[in-house]
Amino acid sequence: MNDINKDEIDARWHMLVWRMMIVICSISFVIAWILFGVYRVDKSIGAGAYIVKYIVLPMIVQAIAITICYFYMKHDEADIKHKNYVVTGMIYVCVGVIAFTYCTIYPLILIPCVTIIATALFADQELTVWSGVAVLALMVINVVRLHLNVELATQMNWVGALLIYILVVSVMCAMVMVVNKHTKALMESIAGSYNRQVTLMSELMVDPMTGLYNRRSFEESLDKEIENVEQTGAKSYVTIFDIDHFKEVNDTYGHSNGDIVIKALCKMMKEKSKDMGLAFRYGGEEFVILFHDVELSKVMNVVEDIRTEFRCYYFHFMNKDGITCSCGVAEYTKGESSKAWFNRADSALYKAKESGRNRTVISE
Ligand code: GH3
Ligand code: MG
Ligand code: MG
Repeated sequence: MNDINKDEIDARWHMLVWRMMIVICSISFVIAWILFGVYRVDKSIGAGAYIVKYIVLPMIVQAIAITICYFYMKHDEADIKHKNYVVTGMIYVCVGVIAFTYCTIYPLILIPCVTIIATALFADQELTVWSGVAVLALMVINVVRLHLNVELATQMNWVGALLIYILVVSVMCAMVMVVNKHTKALMESIAGSYNRQVTLMSELMVDPMTGLYNRRSFEESLDKEIENVEQTGAKSYVTIFDIDHFKEVNDTYGHSNGDIVIKALCKMMKEKSKDMGLAFRYGGEEFVILFHDVELSKVMNVVEDIRTEFRCYYFHFMNKDGITCSCGVAEYTKGESSKAWFNRADSALYKAKESGRNRTVISE
């Protein structure tokens, strides 16, 4: 899991809004056909011309806006602020085209206000103002078009209508701008608590002293690995490392120097296994590397490389030979449980200890 911030919350809104626009445009498409069947808003043109003007053209414009928005959303290098503008632009075009096409139905002139409301999702005051301006411009155009329509012009007080629309848009913008402040604070608080949760979760999975994943995490990974291997048939290995006579190291050089030894081994395990598997601290001075989809020869190269480097490592508090470790290796065999797999590696480790330590034993 990764940290989340306002940009990522915005990115999630984009996808949601984009899908909603597809739904809204589909509904408007169906309604347009119904209107065509039951009540044609323009009776002066023939059926073919009506379909082109009121159904096909708006649909093409909406499809273009939705497509452009999709590709812009997927464009990784684009700034999130610009993406907010493009998504808002798509909403504006999709609902604006409905208002533009059906401006003779008075309430529809107000439809583009949806754009202003949608900007509350992005909590960007500037964006709200710009969409207010764009919505107002479209309303003015629609009212003027209506006024120029000889048939309808006589029925309406276009100056009055214009003033009312200006009022509606201004009040809506002001309200959304107030909401924006709260949305921003809310998003920051959501991101904050999500991130705290992520930190806690990762702390739960990681051993604080060595930075390796802990036993709980190992057990989960082992189960997942088995599922994976059963499906793919890849080769996986559990390798258990145990420091030899570590109690003596503690007794001779002290517990804190013992910690230094553990950290040194863990660092080697982490670095040397990073391309092939994951390293875990299973218990006090016992560690595991879970190798995924690797050949035994490569596993042995890594294991022996770690053991050699550890044996030769210079610890400033020691004046005699280095410390050694033993290792048990077991390949997963089809159908076995995680416990059985781990126990085979543990038995191999036991054999390594029994037969003199400082060696690796592979389970049959
Ligand atoms: P063997 O070769 O058979 O593995 O012998 P050993 O002495 O390594 O094994 P044993 O299990 O007798 O002792 C392990 C010791 O590791 C005992 C414990 O105090 C020590 N230990 C466990 N965790 C830590 C730790 O985090 N820091 C330090 N310094 N010591 C630890
Ligand atoms: Mg041990
Ligand atoms: Mg030991």
